[in-house]
Amino acid sequence: AQTIRLVLGDQLNPQHSWYREARSDVVYLMMEVRQETDYVLHHAQKILAIFAGMREFARQLQEAGHRVHYLKINDPANRQTLPGNLDFVIALYGARRLEYQAPDEWRLDQQLTEYARQQEQASQPVVCRAVDSEHFYTQRAEAAQLFPARKKWLMEQFYRHMRTQHRILLDKAGKPEGGQWNYDQENRQSWPGVPVEPADFRPRHDHSALWAEIVAAGVGSFGEPNAAQFPWPLNREEALRQLHAFVQHALPHFGEFQDAMSFKSWRLFHSLLSFALNTKMLSPAEVVNCVEEEWRAGRVPLAAAEGYIRQILGWREYVRGVYWANMPGYEKHNVFEHDLPLPIWFWTGKTKMRCVASAITQSLEQAHAHHIQRLMIIGNFALLAGLHPEEVHRWYLGIYIDAFEWVELPNTLGMSQFADGGLMATKPYVSSAAYINRMSDYCKGCHYDKKQREGETACPYNALYWDFFDRNREKLAGNHRLGMVYRQLEKMDATAVASLQTHAAHLRRHLDSL
Ligand code: FAD
Repeated sequence: AQTIRLVLGDQLNPQHSWYREARSDVVYLMMEVRQETDYVLHHAQKILAIFAGMREFARQLQEAGHRVHYLKINDPANRQTLPGNLDFVIALYGARRLEYQAPDEWRLDQQLTEYARQQEQASQPVVCRAVDSEHFYTQRAEAAQLFPARKKWLMEQFYRHMRTQHRILLDKAGKPEGGQWNYDQENRQSWPGVPVEPADFRPRHDHSALWAEIVAAGVGSFGEPNAAQFPWPLNREEALRQLHAFVQHALPHFGEFQDAMSFKSWRLFHSLLSFALNTKMLSPAEVVNCVEEEWRAGRVPLAAAEGYIRQILGWREYVRGVYWANMPGYEKHNVFEHDLPLPIWFWTGKTKMRCVASAITQSLEQAHAHHIQRLMIIGNFALLAGLHPEEVHRWYLGIYIDAFEWVELPNTLGMSQFADGGLMATKPYVSSAAYINRMSDYCKGCHYDKKQREGETACPYNALYWDFFDRNREKLAGNHRLGMVYRQLEKMDATAVASLQTHAAHLRRHLDSL
């Protein structure tokens, strides 16, 4: 009897043990389905990248002698849902076994668990088995196990545990290399324009034909498809080449400029590897090991290597733990009861705030923004203005090339919107114009004045910042990391605070025209 092995669009890992031998009794099933294109409105490049990556993966499997059943988006036999297509393919091959790699998204995990339950109880039972995706350092519940009930989760503690457990950047005595676990203090510089940003190290593809197929199938999307010059790695070889180019040309400066933002460079010294990692073309361990080796060979500073490794060994695994510990229902948290809809310019980039216009326009053009743009420009504004966190989450889930719910949701709802009341972040990541000006060149030439707090040309971040802390005093004043903010608020006289509140309320009523 035949076995069907399901491969999802973010499981493009050719090194999985499934593929060690080509077996005639196994058929790999891959499908492009409306269920997945339509659960949120996606950026055009995200749909293209996943479909193109899947088609390439299927081609490579076939080339290696595996049997593949691939359902394209416009295939008349395609039932456009996971269970519908599984029913169809299981019947087609008379299969008695279904195997799948554990999905990273709660939604799909539920759907497949339920499907498996039904199959096993059917009159012609199909044995279903979930296997590990062999990608992450940690299991789903591992982070949760590290933090006893009711104890506050801390990324730094988790990260040190990971460094020790996996022996990353440790000396012979098991102590952190260089004597410190964390070099963040050295990693907070703005970028003066030198060193020059490295050339774009990503591949280019012409995927105009695939894009035409996607459009003809009626799949909705937004953003620039860039199909003729498609710039994302679509298989493991390309992803590895990109990793090595990054390590050589950008990693040496990654640390220093990790938090910088510039009108002149949309990606600075970031790796742009999140799509390749999240679709599992690359494993986190091989990226971490490669970066550690660069440091050991004396080619990059410790602060750069440590800063980069922390993102993958620390943050990436940590947010996965937060996700599984809080699903289902995490997307419903809304501790500040924020309820404003997204301003129209989230879909066009057309706002007079130069920083936001730059970050959103770039996101529409590139399906990418780097961490500080996501956190301290767009997310910061959304939180200060009081946008509905679930809507903000759906926007982030749609727009970024690397947006898969397990990693996007804790970052957006938790880290950026503080909607979970502090499960993910120790304080809300918000700032007024001063921080944005310190870390970027956005404010120079902006319609708004970074120094003013009120008036038609005052930077909206300023009044919104003070109003945010003032209106959420009850929920935030007890947070010891916010002592200074509240002491500053105490020092302001009541009429000044009232006037800021009035201006903030005016801004919040007219978000579309900012
Ligand atoms: P680099 O700066 O080169 O970092 C290297 C790698 O570290 C990334 O590729 C990524 O795998 C990992 N990493 C860095 N920061 C984080 C983080 N906070 N959480 C998890 N992994 C991290 N990342 C996603 O992969 N998918 C998302 O949907 C996503 N949504 C985000 C939403 C918000 C509001 C914020 C603040 C951050 C989000 N991030 C997300 C994290 C981070 O912004 C991106 O991983 C990063 O910008 C990807 O670009 P890069 O590969 O050039 O990253």
